[in-house]
Amino acid sequence: MGFKRVLIANRGEIALRILRALRDMGIEVAIIHGKEDRLSLPVRLSDFAYPNYKSNPLDSYLNIEDVITAAKELQCDAIHPGYGFLAENAAFVARCAEEGITFIGPSAEVITLLGDKIEARAAMEAAGLPTAKGSSEPISSAAVASTLATEIGYPVIIKAAAGGGGIGMQIVSKSDEFENALKLCQSRAKSAFGDERVFVEKYIQGAQHIEFQVLADGKTAIHFGERFCSIQRRHQKLVEEGPWLDEKTRAEIGELVCRGAESVGYKGLATFEFLRDAKGDFYFLEVNPRVQVEHTVTELITGYNLVELGIRVAQGEKLPLTQEDIVIRGHAIQCRINAEDPKDFIPSPGRLWECHFPSGFGVRCDTHAYPGYEMPGCFDSLLAKLLVWGRDREDAISRMKTALDETIITGVEHLIPLHRRIMDEEDFANRNITIQYIEMHSDLLG
Ligand code: ADP
Repeated sequence: MGFKRVLIANRGEIALRILRALRDMGIEVAIIHGKEDRLSLPVRLSDFAYPNYKSNPLDSYLNIEDVITAAKELQCDAIHPGYGFLAENAAFVARCAEEGITFIGPSAEVITLLGDKIEARAAMEAAGLPTAKGSSEPISSAAVASTLATEIGYPVIIKAAAGGGGIGMQIVSKSDEFENALKLCQSRAKSAFGDERVFVEKYIQGAQHIEFQVLADGKTAIHFGERFCSIQRRHQKLVEEGPWLDEKTRAEIGELVCRGAESVGYKGLATFEFLRDAKGDFYFLEVNPRVQVEHTVTELITGYNLVELGIRVAQGEKLPLTQEDIVIRGHAIQCRINAEDPKDFIPSPGRLWECHFPSGFGVRCDTHAYPGYEMPGCFDSLLAKLLVWGRDREDAISRMKTALDETIITGVEHLIPLHRRIMDEEDFANRNITIQYIEMHSDLLG
């Protein structure tokens, strides 16, 4: 049965992105929002808005019972969580189920499984995915960690089982570093995630970050190819593009991720993240069980509306397309235009006095910004996602330069100068990029 009305439990560009998909599908749009967002585009354009003002602005979007109450009062059949906030909160998904409200995403059980990196690694290894050598259980003793590291070879990385956003990760290259590194990772994990379990994994040198877009209906999964997201700062992506792999490798890894998704009964959109080493070997990192910021890259090269497809499988539809329907055409690049200082990535909130985004052939801009918009400092700093499509990578890079030059934002600092320099940089042009790219090109920070 199709949804009549859906509550968006999110804000910013992704709330607008979801609103547009719902409108395209003839579904009414409801939204819950904080005080800072009362004049935002997704709130103004929605059919029904539920103000939820709190002294801590994050609570407007994070309080489970408030979101459930909003959905019930506004008579919504379903809730779209977007990314961040409650998107990966199994307790929230379980509450939706109790109230008979559809959560647009996978089940609470699947979210719990995938939210634990140790369990997710084990499940995906069992489904045949390649993982980096490492511990299959939490590690709390430096002696145990050191024995394991000798077995798998240094350097290794200590990561939080409940991890996200690169928080707490420690690279260890000698045995005597374990004592401190373990403690540090455990305490960061405890304060960020309330769970101090950590595990050890082989550190992949010279790695590239490559991820696969998947859609599944609970039984069958298909993939939409890969995105290359190695240009990162503090383990967070700045530039994403695709395609990146040859057809044979795409088919091979694509087949594996689909089996992985099917093995856990996955339903909805998912991203399977991997590192690839200099030899070309892949290592599974994690599954993100939700729509991702960079899903837009895949939309441009496949022509499919991924947000709409995610909503359709949540409505109970079977996959409306098969693997053979997915054909990749041309090349797409996305630059994240964050309101941040391009020298040190410090957030730069404030009012946008001028704000003009580019358009034209092969250009897409997903943004909730407009002239006069007050960019709040209490949420993440993503202001706009600027995307271009080109016949090939070279064509896309040229178009991205034109588009960046056409963008005018005054009032806040932003990353356009950095992106413009990246587009001109030789290693970028030659696809000579690893996850250390920004560190290795610190001159680009100006
Ligand atoms: P999170 O969920 O905290 O974002 P991930 O496991 O997805 O953590 O890793 C995020 C980033 O951390 C990767 O893109 C990579 O830059 C780095 N990283 C994680 N694991 C490894 C590893 N085994 N070797 C090298 N780098 C890693």
